[in-house]
Amino acid sequence: MKIKELFKTKKPVISFEIFPPKFDTPLETIYDSLKQFKDLNPDFISVTYGAGGSQKDRTIEISSKIKNEYDVESMAHLTCVGQSEEEIDLMLDSLQKNGIENILALRGDPPINQPDFDFSKGAFRYASELIRYIKSKSNFCIAAAAYVEGHVDCKRLKEDMAYLKKKVDEGVDFLITQLFFDNRLFYDFLDKAAALNINCPVTPGIMPIFKADQIKRITYLCGASIPAKLVIMMDKYENSPEDLRKAGIEYASTQIRDLIDNGVDGVHLLTMNRPKSSKEILQNVGLI
Ligand code: FAD
Repeated sequence: MKIKELFKTKKPVISFEIFPPKFDTPLETIYDSLKQFKDLNPDFISVTYGAGGSQKDRTIEISSKIKNEYDVESMAHLTCVGQSEEEIDLMLDSLQKNGIENILALRGDPPINQPDFDFSKGAFRYASELIRYIKSKSNFCIAAAAYVEGHVDCKRLKEDMAYLKKKVDEGVDFLITQLFFDNRLFYDFLDKAAALNINCPVTPGIMPIFKADQIKRITYLCGASIPAKLVIMMDKYENSPEDLRKAGIEYASTQIRDLIDNGVDGVHLLTMNRPKSSKEILQNVGLI
């Protein structure tokens, strides 16, 4: 099923994001978690694409398993940075053969420690070009990334919004946002998107805080800001990981409750492959 159809009939659409286990970890380690995620009855599960396509086979295999064995709709992330047209064609063919109908089409990040990375060596410079290409030769439902605080590389927020509009106009069916910790940023973003006639569903990405160092690393990379009350929370539970996990779950639950009260199209939970914590959050907000 194309996920865009879900947004026409359900509000909020609840989705999970998972990532493939690392190369040195057997793929099967994710399967037990998949069963637990299925039991939480999400509307769809998306599977990330390792930096530079490093885990592409695993992304396909897990997306296929979710859809064909666990009977949950799936979406494969796909990045184009450094990839040739032939490599993207192979991915699209493989996704199609596995019955996957939904793609989160992304540019992706350059390899770490390569500030002078030459984007022009790949066939597609920006996600908008990848989206146009996929649209021109297939019938996938296409999602794209949006950044409520602006993409980390952009010099001006206004330009980032204009590029987002361009991306949507190339044929995006819905948007998923980068994580954020202050819902006011999201509501402000929705206003700006509406002013630009970005009319597709926008589902907010929510990441519960489990570990302080992890969240600092992630926000450093993606440019999301951490509100002062979260900094205080992380300091308070610095030496008490289980208390921090509980506080992080409470914070994410409060965020999601407020988003639902404000009529969001969906909630995309960045699960960090943790079904137990995901269940606690859904229970807290009354979704199970
Ligand atoms: P784009 O939309 O191409 O934007 C990239 C930058 O270029 C922005 O600064 C934008 O303002 C600018 N720009 C866009 N168009 C133009 C133009 N025409 N001219 C000049 N500048 C322009 N990464 C992974 O590697 N794997 C994943 O699985 C993954 N999943 C993600 C899921 C979500 C929900 C999100 C929000 C991000 C994800 N990412 C993932 C990270 C993403 O790949 C990076 O943020 C990447 O740097 C940008 O990708 P994009 O598709 O947003 O790029």
